[in-house]
Amino acid sequence: MTCVTRFAPSPSGLLHAGHAYSALCAHKYAQQAGGRFLLRIEDIDSTRCRAEYEQAIFDDLRWLGLSWEMPVRRQSEHFDAYARTREKLVAMGVLYRSFLTRRQIREDIARAPHGRAPVYHGPKTPLSADEEAQRLQNGEAFAWRLSLRAARRVLGARWDDLHFIEEGRGPAGEHGRISARPALLGDVVLARKDIATSYHLAVTHDDAAQGITHVVRGQDLFESTHIHVLLQALLGLPTPVYHHHRLITDAQGKRLATRDSARTLDDWRKSGASVQDLRQSLGL
Ligand code: GLU
Repeated sequence: MTCVTRFAPSPSGLLHAGHAYSALCAHKYAQQAGGRFLLRIEDIDSTRCRAEYEQAIFDDLRWLGLSWEMPVRRQSEHFDAYARTREKLVAMGVLYRSFLTRRQIREDIARAPHGRAPVYHGPKTPLSADEEAQRLQNGEAFAWRLSLRAARRVLGARWDDLHFIEEGRGPAGEHGRISARPALLGDVVLARKDIATSYHLAVTHDDAAQGITHVVRGQDLFESTHIHVLLQALLGLPTPVYHHHRLITDAQGKRLATRDSARTLDDWRKSGASVQDLRQSLGL
């Protein structure tokens, strides 16, 4: 089986050294295995993603000396496919509409996928059909949440066997066969009234659609894997091998983040630093 890896950045800001590390790791992984390296643009959040950031991703990756297969998959071009997948899950009875406040929803969006959204374990009692119909008629906003209770029912004995192989390390050193524990994330949001998908749904769909065999990404996404494995089981998709790598931190030991205006790759380039300098600082 040919090894296929991917780098899947969101064009919501400029890339920093943490992104470079991730891209270089995924690229090297494919190269060493004589496999393929893909680039995927994760631009489902149209409020934060911009074309100039996408162009900057291409420029930065070329500067790093990487090449990838064409065409590049852009998630914003596949909303229909995500909607169909969502409908499949609705038909299985594992999604439900959740009418939480705008504030809760905003908090959710701001934290996904890296920070963990507050864990929500579903309503104490399901919304009655009448109330749901009434709220829909009022045009209220809602999110499609994955019901872990229903998913467990659908999978039966397979629920207890959900697992993935971790070739790298999780944040607590997890390695090897990892039992999936979706309850750590609770009833996550998979779509919204007006947005066909969330990170979890799109990433699971696309890893399968692109035939990704090895997911190489940062440890900050380790926990999300518990949900991705569950979605793969529900949708009959293969589970890739996972390789979560260490996170690149600043001098204070804090993870580099776009929102904290970490030094960008563009800054590195403009300061006259070479790719070799950058690789060295990343311990590569
Ligand atoms: N798009 C995500 C990000 O920018 C990464 C998704 C993944 O590797 O699964 O952090």
